[in-house]
Amino acid sequence: MHPSIRSHAPDVTIVRVRNQIVTNAARTVPYGDEMIELFRGGRVFTSDPDRPWAEAVVIEGERIVFVGHVADAVDRAGADAVVHDIAGGVVLPGFVDAHAHVTMTGDALLKAQLRDAPDVAEIRRRLTVWAAANPHAPRILGIGWIYSAIDGGRPTRQMLDEIGDGRPIYAEAADLHSCWLNTAALHELGVTDDTPDPIGGRIVRDPQTGMATGHLLENASVNLVWPLLADVPASTLDEYLAAAMRAYSESGVTAAVDMAMDATMLAAMQRAESAGRLTVRVIGHWLIHRTGDSVTELAQVDKLVRLVERMADDSSLSRLRIAGIKIIADGTIDGCTAALINPYADGTNADPIWDRTSLDAVVAAADAAGLQVAIHAIGDQTVRNAIDAIERAGVTNGDPAATHSRRHRIEHLEYVDESDVVRLAGLGITASMQPVHIDPAIFANWAAMLGDERADRGFAWREFLDAGTTLAFGTDTPTAPHFPLHNMYIATTRRSPGDPTLTPHRPDNALPLDEAVIHATRDAAWASFAEDSIGVLRAGSFADLVVLDRDPFAAEPESLLSARVVLTISNGRTVYTG
Ligand SMILES: [Zn+2]
Repeated sequence: MHPSIRSHAPDVTIVRVRNQIVTNAARTVPYGDEMIELFRGGRVFTSDPDRPWAEAVVIEGERIVFVGHVADAVDRAGADAVVHDIAGGVVLPGFVDAHAHVTMTGDALLKAQLRDAPDVAEIRRRLTVWAAANPHAPRILGIGWIYSAIDGGRPTRQMLDEIGDGRPIYAEAADLHSCWLNTAALHELGVTDDTPDPIGGRIVRDPQTGMATGHLLENASVNLVWPLLADVPASTLDEYLAAAMRAYSESGVTAAVDMAMDATMLAAMQRAESAGRLTVRVIGHWLIHRTGDSVTELAQVDKLVRLVERMADDSSLSRLRIAGIKIIADGTIDGCTAALINPYADGTNADPIWDRTSLDAVVAAADAAGLQVAIHAIGDQTVRNAIDAIERAGVTNGDPAATHSRRHRIEHLEYVDESDVVRLAGLGITASMQPVHIDPAIFANWAAMLGDERADRGFAWREFLDAGTTLAFGTDTPTAPHFPLHNMYIATTRRSPGDPTLTPHRPDNALPLDEAVIHATRDAAWASFAEDSIGVLRAGSFADLVVLDRDPFAAEPESLLSARVVLTISNGRTVYTG
């Protein structure tokens, strides 16, 4: 943090942020919770559909107190206000990442980064470099490899056995739905050629020899690898969380919906909240594990209901809230683990991880308890099951209007039958989608798995909007980069931030920037019942805002790739200056 910005020492004033923000440096105002700050000199995009543009914003303490014309703002701010001249830049609401994994993002940032490795040789090189840089780590850890980097999309343990120093290697796929292991890691997990597949997961085996290949899909990874890697001391979790907060603040995100919350993550966030270090608001959806047994599945919902009641009594947790449950109902199209109505190009198909009976039961129980339901559903069969489950919950619980009002949501919706797209709005279901997942740099494998005209309708945001559905944009970090401006670039162009020359998929589904930003701020907040306090710049809202060094609304979309966040304010506090 810039030392002269909003220092906690008394009697220090704001001065400047690398010349982009010039403030009244000559003045000295006492620091205090009710300090008044005025932002002027550029444009203000409010994300309020009724009044999207303004000239100035005034904040006082943790709240926005005025948005409007500059002359009125100056009056409202008064002579003692600290003035930020944003000099040709733009003020936006802080981004709300509608689908994220917060502590996992911090964890991922500390592993070998494999996302843009084009082939196995480069993946091996990066893991080798990481291993050398982390000689005392018990395991070699990587994240982010993509299927198209591996010949035939089939990773094997032999490819990793040639590198490293005998330590187990765990390399998570970019979508986090599978993990690639070396032989030492299979041994550490106790996985042998004879280990049965867990429900909703697969230990990939060589078709000729029947030997485990080192590739664990879905619940084989979630149930075996994740608990092992998550078994870290509390101090390590605190480091993950701090890394995620830093990364978010630097990129302009001030709130995130965590889509796989559990008790250890919650504890880390509560520690951060009590210490005043939770600089990004977190709204959590609790991950309900598929056990195959309805008693233990429903018991998880009951336990959560009691937890939410306890948290509601604790007023100190104002920046941390649990909204409801998360169900991972299928896998991914890339891994051919998402359930489709018609098979994949290779003739295979996948069963949903949650069958209809188990899904209906948990959705109805959560709905009856007043919890929000978020269902990961990517394939068209699973999306249909998810919509059906929410529709039936309204009937089962005797009040379809109440179910409608809970803002239940479906996550991802990558390939949806046209007859189902039109059902979402009528049931009040939010479409939670991630533009980063249609980055052309990773799209070829996705399309190849479907292998036909179905790929044409992938990530069809326009269809959802035309049908009247609320679209909430997020990044699903760390399955994709967390940068909101890059996410907005893909949303407005369907092009790749890493290589804008790659052919975009169905650019007619791209959205104007103002619409895209509303989906990533106001609508993302709405999906979590938070639109009255965050996601929109209006008097009364929390002072969560971000300042960019230029105005991408007035320039080509590529300016989103060069724009820099120069100031991020969360709850009235400066959490990043650049
Ligand atoms: Zn996710």
